[in-house]
Amino acid sequence: MLRPPGPLTWHLARTATPAAWEVPSVGSASRASSRTAVGQHVSRVSAALRSLLASGLALLLRSPLRRRKLEIQYSRPSCAPSASYAYSVLAFYLVHPVKAPQEEALQHKAWCRSRGLLGRVWVSSRGLNVQISGKTEDCERYADFVARRFRTCRGPLVCKIDPVPEPAFPRLRVKAKQLVSLHPELAEQVDMTDRGEDLEPEEWRRKLQGLSMGEPGKVLDVRNDYEWDLGHFAHAERPSTEQLRAMTAESMGLQSEDQETPLYMYCTGGIRCEFMGAALRQRGFKKVYKLKGGIQHYGNTVGAEEWKGRLFVFDRRNSISVGPEGRAEPQWCSTCGSRVAEEFWNCGNMDCNRCMVTCRECLRSLDGVCCKGCMRAARRLPATWRGMNGGLNNMQAHFAYGMIYSQPYIAK
Ligand SMILES: [Zn+2]
Ligand SMILES: [Zn+2]
Repeated sequence: MLRPPGPLTWHLARTATPAAWEVPSVGSASRASSRTAVGQHVSRVSAALRSLLASGLALLLRSPLRRRKLEIQYSRPSCAPSASYAYSVLAFYLVHPVKAPQEEALQHKAWCRSRGLLGRVWVSSRGLNVQISGKTEDCERYADFVARRFRTCRGPLVCKIDPVPEPAFPRLRVKAKQLVSLHPELAEQVDMTDRGEDLEPEEWRRKLQGLSMGEPGKVLDVRNDYEWDLGHFAHAERPSTEQLRAMTAESMGLQSEDQETPLYMYCTGGIRCEFMGAALRQRGFKKVYKLKGGIQHYGNTVGAEEWKGRLFVFDRRNSISVGPEGRAEPQWCSTCGSRVAEEFWNCGNMDCNRCMVTCRECLRSLDGVCCKGCMRAARRLPATWRGMNGGLNNMQAHFAYGMIYSQPYIAK
């Protein structure tokens, strides 16, 4: 007796030999109706299979493994000082497992050397932190190099790129080392897969405005205290610890009842918040928000709104403006309180080395140190390094232990 075969063989059989089983026979009415039902069933199944295949293929094409490189999102100053500058400072980071940090670092070192890039590249098992400087096209090529190596990373790679008249670093340092040092109490068992939520600069601005209207939340400056002195967001209190690695939940004024409080944290480029965010999440703080791309990206995207002063940077520029130059509310000198302070200095007493944001007049009257006591100290930096002649500030002097610049950096 002729019986309709199973769905798949039936489909093949029908196309191959339709006559073989479509021969009408006595009492075939019920068989014909069952054939129609089977036919409908089969076409449904094959349609489902086809769509499954198509979506699978689309997924495969979009999968990180197939991707040629990680997407790059460039963040540039809205008012570039000059488009004619041939050099740039490039800053970005990646949070992604690195199997062999030492070997990875060697690859980056070789690449940067071959293009004459200067600056620092830190590689750890948890990712990458980069601040480099060189010819603009070489900076972009380096970002491409990284985007190809880390194509399976979740993107995009936010690259802050600022045009500068000359390289902003004196040498190249590429090392396998810890990316961010937290207090041992916070650094324990940090799970980098749970770091809190990113806020786009515009969302961040709205949240800060919400705080002004009385919405609940705390703004946390996840930087060193002297960075806050040079400039900070409205609502952010000055860190009570001198350095990030001394910061604890307690020092940030967080108590157990803050576990439900929205915490808005920010830092220069974003990486310090990634680690601090993870640490706080693991300590039970539920609403952790991080400013995506850091202050720099905020300035490039939103501008100076809600920001006061300038932004401290770890290169020879010392500080940069957030948003267009001169738009942010100024920061006053921490010594006299009456003049604008736009630079940061280390106390010229090498045994003190305190970071301070002081106007040049105050610096001169204190002979390049932080206080009367330090004026009498035995081990003081040479006068030029104390910022007394030629305007070589101490951040630059700091770099100058290995190299003295012939020209002070003047932002044009
Ligand atoms: Zn002053
Ligand atoms: Zn001092």
